[in-house]
Amino acid sequence: MFELPEYTILANQMTKTMKSKVIKNASLGNSPHKFVWYNRTHEEFARLMYKKTVGDAYVRGRWLFMEMLPGHILVLGECGGKILFHQEQKYVPKKYHLLINFTDGTAFTVTTQMWGAMELYKKGEELNRKYIKDMKITPTDKDFTYQYFNKLIDECNGTDVNSTKGLLTQNQLIPGLGNSIAQDILFNAQLGPKHPLNNLSTQQRKRLYDSIRKTLQEIIAKNGRYDEYDLMGNKGKYIRIMDKNSSGKPCMKCKTKIEKIQYLGGACYYCPQCQI
Ligand SMILES: [Zn+2]
Repeated sequence: MFELPEYTILANQMTKTMKSKVIKNASLGNSPHKFVWYNRTHEEFARLMYKKTVGDAYVRGRWLFMEMLPGHILVLGECGGKILFHQEQKYVPKKYHLLINFTDGTAFTVTTQMWGAMELYKKGEELNRKYIKDMKITPTDKDFTYQYFNKLIDECNGTDVNSTKGLLTQNQLIPGLGNSIAQDILFNAQLGPKHPLNNLSTQQRKRLYDSIRKTLQEIIAKNGRYDEYDLMGNKGKYIRIMDKNSSGKPCMKCKTKIEKIQYLGGACYYCPQCQI
């Protein structure tokens, strides 16, 4: 599944590569898939996309927005799989869930592995969509300040979110983070996944905040995680610190054996020595 860094990279590449291109024709999938969420019929989508010009692409959490000018916006949400630009239409994969052919002979496809939203809205109406409407501040935004983060932790008091991993992965409190990136954020912050939120010291809160920002920046700088693809089909160069490959191996800092536990709907890998 794409998380915030991959979506950020994709949006930057999409703006750079596809802005100002004109749509020759567009279609929804040729590979029916019950977990792909569309909000238009095939005919409607083809008609509304015809002759549109691509504008800017941008990200909020796990949602990618691509302007279709004039007046519309394509929304790709919570997808995994591949979002690809093709230099020539002959490189379009056999199966896809969304296809755009441009007048200059290039193309764009989205193929999701598990689920994902591929929806077209009149600009502005996407803001009323469930999950987008009440989305909290994305951690790469300038408004995601330490002061805001501190308040977010305080607001968890008395809710079902009571641990560091919970803060990072439950209820999209910090949009765009998932189980995978949360592991490395916690390692970099030297905090265990079960560390209770209500006894984080000021220093630990600050460390967690810094780690969120720095870990995301690092993954973006390395073009995403090694097991995800960018718009050109290139794999990312960010090697995850804490994942299934590190389980049982020595910690890179202290050589203690990395442990694996099941916690909050997914495996957690952590160093019992470095992460308290
Ligand atoms: Zn360690």
